[in-house]
Amino acid sequence: MSIPYNSLEPQWEPLESIPFGEAVLCANCDMITRAKNCRCPVCESTSIVNIANLLNRGFLSM
Ligand SMILES: [Zn+2]
Repeated sequence: MSIPYNSLEPQWEPLESIPFGEAVLCANCDMITRAKNCRCPVCESTSIVNIANLLNRGFLSM
């Protein structure tokens, strides 16, 4: 018995939106997340890099 495919829409998972200034890239698991307590919430690594700093966009100085 197959699963009925009733929709032509892609089965998007609802994505979590992360404010740019709070987004961090984990160097350990390569996930972009919202860091909690300076740790990757996925793998608990502390090897995280702030995306804004990484791109050097300088939003705070605008
Ligand atoms: Zn991680």
